[in-house]
Amino acid sequence: MLSDLLSALDLSGHPRLTNPGDTKGVATVSSPTTGAPLAGVKLDDADSYERTVAASAAAFKAWREVPAPVRGQVVRAIGDEFRRHKDALGDLVSLEVGKIRSEGRGEVQETIDIADFAVGLSRQLYGLTMPSERAHHTMKEQWLPLGPVGVISAFNFPNAVWAWNAMLAAVCGDTTIWKPSLLAPLTAIASHAIADRVATSMGHPGVFSLVIGTDDVVGERLVADPRIPLISATGSCRMGRRVGQVVAQRFGRALLELGGNNAAIVHHDADLAMAIPAIVFSAVGTAGQRCTTTRRLIVHERIADDVCKRLAAAYKTIRIGDPLADGTLVGPLINARAVEGFLHAVESARAQGGSVLVGGQRARVSGLSGHFVEPTIIRCNKPIPISCEETFAPILYVFTYSDIQHAIAMNNEVPQGLSSAVFSDSLRIAEAFLSPSGSGSDCGIANVNAGTSGAEIGGAFGGEKETGGGRESGSDSWKAYMRRQTSTINWGTQVRLAQGIRFD
Ligand code: NAD
Repeated sequence: MLSDLLSALDLSGHPRLTNPGDTKGVATVSSPTTGAPLAGVKLDDADSYERTVAASAAAFKAWREVPAPVRGQVVRAIGDEFRRHKDALGDLVSLEVGKIRSEGRGEVQETIDIADFAVGLSRQLYGLTMPSERAHHTMKEQWLPLGPVGVISAFNFPNAVWAWNAMLAAVCGDTTIWKPSLLAPLTAIASHAIADRVATSMGHPGVFSLVIGTDDVVGERLVADPRIPLISATGSCRMGRRVGQVVAQRFGRALLELGGNNAAIVHHDADLAMAIPAIVFSAVGTAGQRCTTTRRLIVHERIADDVCKRLAAAYKTIRIGDPLADGTLVGPLINARAVEGFLHAVESARAQGGSVLVGGQRARVSGLSGHFVEPTIIRCNKPIPISCEETFAPILYVFTYSDIQHAIAMNNEVPQGLSSAVFSDSLRIAEAFLSPSGSGSDCGIANVNAGTSGAEIGGAFGGEKETGGGRESGSDSWKAYMRRQTSTINWGTQVRLAQGIRFD
């Protein structure tokens, strides 16, 4: 399977790829579905890192001179190439990280979408002009390319997270240096090869670079590197805390997209025919390994038993298995450590008074010895310590409430602030959740009658508190990849000072 995909992606014989094994400087990639080794990937060391960053910094000087709409044409061609390779690359995502086929291909669609968005944006990097208080003066702001951008990505979106950054950065005039997760380097090699091939063939080598290595040798070096003005890092809060501090120390910019512990509130007037499938997708999709996965369900006490009964019935129909097989809805967790984390969370929840309604164990899948677990519902009526942590697995904690303000307070009382949702047919409930005073959801994403996961690329994506505060993808997120310059132009014949100051 892997060799077919590699040849469909024109990667056969790629210099990074080698046999799996314990050779020094090689990482072994294993299948989460079977546990078997898939391939070996040659790692960067300090010298190759240095060469890559120097080349990216040099390429930046040429790339920034290319007019933005022309940069957009390069990104358009890259998007077309991802269209051509969507199925093969999507299946590689599934093979490497265990997403089901439609989610693997959906991730590549997200890359195609952000490329389209970036092409339009390449003609809309608007600055402002503003009236000056001084006669015969003009004021304006313009947005300028920033420099090489470091992109650190998590394992669970091994293609799209890079593209959110790289496609916008490219039209903004920046080069990117991507450091993917060591749990998903194959998708990174394939994605980078597609973008680099297109850009190089159009006369722009070095716009997209890739460094693959351990956090000690490559990650820490990238984060501390003063030649890289922006580090965009996606991953756990633990990683973000470290990266944020190191980047701040050198007065760099950090764009942090970190963990979530997302809740959905279900009011008593919710349309359950709509709410239940939306909650199930958000809670068990990608085997609970999305940053936006619904981990906490806050249900009005009047309907809590009914909601639990319906969810339990839906969970029993979910087919767990090979992510590339038809009909599978839940694939494996990424590795054995993730399974241990899942089992530990279930055990802790029991010890803290939670009762397991569905699941709670490893799942046995005939013929496959991968890292499968059962999607799990734990009822605890009120929050317990383990429900305030992000466990990257399909565990849904159910709490109850009687007053909507209490439900909103529960939504907000975790350290993370990524995504949230309310299901209700009441305008009052929906608007209380989105209150313009800020007294509603404290998250970067707040949905009404739509689940917490599955964002579109058009909106700015990101979260508050320990989720890191960064925004990526749509809206005006592009501004993070540029620097702002304000200019005052005196087109008169006299020196005039602002604030009426005289200095004759
Ligand atoms: P992780 O934090 O273990 O690793 C993420 C990336 O950070 C990897 O590339 C890793 O090598 C790198 N890294 C770790 N320590 C580093 C250091 N000291 N210096 C430089 N790089 C370092 O996360 P993971 O297990 O790959 O992914 C799961 C986590 O990511 C979850 O918490 C999830 O919520 C979060 N996530 C967030 C978003 C978002 O947009 N908010 C999206 C996807 C995943």
